[in-house]
Amino acid sequence: MTVIIDGKAEAANVIEAVKTATAQLKTTKGLMPGIAVVIVGEDPASQVYVASKGKKAQECGFHSVQHTLADTTSQEDLLSLVDTLNNDPSIHGILVQLPLPGHIEEGEVLQAIDPDKDVDGFHVINAGKLTTGIGTAFVPCTAAGSMLLIERIRGKDFSGLNAVVIGRSNIVGKPVASLLLAANATVTIAHSRTADLPALCRTADILVAAVGRPEMVKGDWVKPGATVIDVGINRIPAPERGEGKSRLVGDVAFAQCAEIAGAISPVPGGVGPMTIALLMANTLVSAYRSAGQVPPTF
Ligand code: NDP
Repeated sequence: MTVIIDGKAEAANVIEAVKTATAQLKTTKGLMPGIAVVIVGEDPASQVYVASKGKKAQECGFHSVQHTLADTTSQEDLLSLVDTLNNDPSIHGILVQLPLPGHIEEGEVLQAIDPDKDVDGFHVINAGKLTTGIGTAFVPCTAAGSMLLIERIRGKDFSGLNAVVIGRSNIVGKPVASLLLAANATVTIAHSRTADLPALCRTADILVAAVGRPEMVKGDWVKPGATVIDVGINRIPAPERGEGKSRLVGDVAFAQCAEIAGAISPVPGGVGPMTIALLMANTLVSAYRSAGQVPPTF
């Protein structure tokens, strides 16, 4: 029987662990983890993401602040805010919601965040730590969340297993590949220039799709018994739900692939909830480190 991976339940476990560790840190050190979320502009999807992050932070018992800036905000002003947050001892995690308006150089802003507060894991220092295995990195939350789901199915050592990651973004594809490699999988990263993607995917004991193309991975791309992790979030028209309605699907044709896979994550309810849970976990870890305490592992 195919296992449908319950990302909601796994994420709830992470959040419970974060709450417990937050309470401990308050009792032992009088310290409350603090997260600052910065949003520039009015993008409705970003507003929703930011609101849900703030809500989750409060649920965890964090000090949570949101900075909402007009889309005309200059890069200089945004960098000045980041600098203020870098120097604010009550803030342990800084998150600048993407995308930023076109006149702002995203890379410059992300690299201005103190790597010790870079709970999104986008700073080159954290990316470098992750790929080299030197030091302790903040791992991008979607990648870390995907990896936790895979571990629930496959354990922590992937010796002898082939993993294929479709997508090579800095946010998902590359960090997932680094984590799989560190766990001894034999990893191939596929992208838009990869030849015969279906055949490559059929070699995968672990298949991670982070593409952004609705239901691209078909049933006959999947190796029997494989663990399939669907990172994609795509909104497609759903006229069957009424005029103008839409629904979310992943990068994997779920019904077809579920027949072949050993375990598969659904969309929604798979990787999505893990991402926000791991953001909370990273912020907690940052607070523990700032207090000179050994942080819990997730
Ligand atoms: P990007 O657009 O940055 O990267 C997409 C990758 O897919 C690229 O490497 C691209 O290749 C590759 N690709 C595109 N078309 C094809 C194709 N036909 N065949 C093979 N590879 C292809 O996206 P992200 O990594 O940021 O996000 C990927 C998906 O994950 C999106 O649906 C996004 O919404 C979702 N997502 C979900 C999150 C969650 O919380 N669950 C969080 C972040 C993202 P190339 O490099 O050659 O262009």
